Amino acid sequence: MKFKSFLIKYAEIGVKGKNRFLFEDALVRQIHLSLKPLNSTCHVYKEVGRIYVDICDYDYEEVIEALQHVFGIVGICPVVQIEDNGFEDLKQTIVKYMDEMYKEKKITFKVNARRARKNYPLKSMEINAAIGEALLKAFPEIRVDVHNPQVMLNIEIRKRINIYSETIPGPGGMPVGTAGKGMLLLSGGIDSPVAGYMMAKRGVNLEAVYFHTPPYTSDRAKQKVMDLAKKVAAYSGPIKLNIVNFTDIQMYIYEQCPHEELTIIMKRYFYKIAERLAEAHGCLALITGESVGQVSSQTMQSLGVINSVCEKLPVFRPLIAFDKQDIVDISEKIDTYEISIEPYEDCCTTFVADHPVTKPNLKIIKKSETRLQEKIDELVETALQNVEEVIITSE
Ligand code: ATP
Ligand code: MG
Repeated sequence: MKFKSFLIKYAEIGVKGKNRFLFEDALVRQIHLSLKPLNSTCHVYKEVGRIYVDICDYDYEEVIEALQHVFGIVGICPVVQIEDNGFEDLKQTIVKYMDEMYKEKKITFKVNARRARKNYPLKSMEINAAIGEALLKAFPEIRVDVHNPQVMLNIEIRKRINIYSETIPGPGGMPVGTAGKGMLLLSGGIDSPVAGYMMAKRGVNLEAVYFHTPPYTSDRAKQKVMDLAKKVAAYSGPIKLNIVNFTDIQMYIYEQCPHEELTIIMKRYFYKIAERLAEAHGCLALITGESVGQVSSQTMQSLGVINSVCEKLPVFRPLIAFDKQDIVDISEKIDTYEISIEPYEDCCTTFVADHPVTKPNLKIIKKSETRLQEKIDELVETALQNVEEVIITSE
């Protein structure tokens, strides 16, 4: 059956009181953006507590796939919309609808009428009974099951009448653009793309920063990060990726500081630079893919020492209590896993010490950092002045 419209169901954003329209408008905007690349003629609009997509010349699978990338949607219902031409007309339309939708007819069903327009001549229960009876008469094989029906036939009496019986799950979450912007520290690993996806799911717009260390990390490693950003952008919308050349800072730390502290000190400079960029670009938080205990730099002590360089912005770590396998599961779902496991070196592995400190002490780390006094500020400024910006989109 070829549908001309989809009814979009949303949950959480329905309860936002006075701000509700902002959320609905953001959802309409995101739906528009997701359908644009399909080049179908479509009209996305809201109408008393409902969002509709009217669309023609389209491929069903493509449209569903696009809508399943829009946060804020909990259900996608292919819907038949008709004008109210009397109850007889409604009955006939529904018999035809069920005939086309369930060709085999070996189903149990329940009619679920909702009368949002109270001047309709029949009450909901009367509609349920009369439509049920008409269907049983038209198709002797089908059965009613009011407790656990295979098909819930929804009839919504509004200005027009909506008929639908299928709900395809959406991704949930909040529409991107309703929560402000965050700066994602994006590496080529498994975790950070998932962290970005999870924050976007809460409505956060993403910008990203990648610390590149040529020639110790190759152009291919940089391309890998862009490929990952592209996958995340399919959910979050376009991402501005800031590529920071970190080589001189990395080498300077390597020359001046104890090697077992290298990872910690390097991460502190990642955070410092990321915070500077975030502030300059209007981001409200940093986002990382860290999870307690995963590696030596992610012990509670290490996280504390790294975190303490951030003076102005909070650091969000949506994966902090996730097991690796749970993160892998999400990365497979969002299609980043295969890219993340490509074997291109990252700067941490090139310089990592045999026995990095796992319980760093802030005072000791700060003391080591005094050895950087002479040149570090200048190196940080140079890195910030030479940031390469790339806009990453999903196409
Ligand atoms: P991931 O799988 O995200 O790479 P990881 O388990 O390898 O994480 P670390 O290398 O300790 O962990 O990195 C912790 C976090 O620091 C990453 O999740 C990411 O947010 C950030 N990060 C690490 N390396 C870089 C980099 N080169 N550029 C930007 N951010 C980075
Ligand atoms: Mg990593």
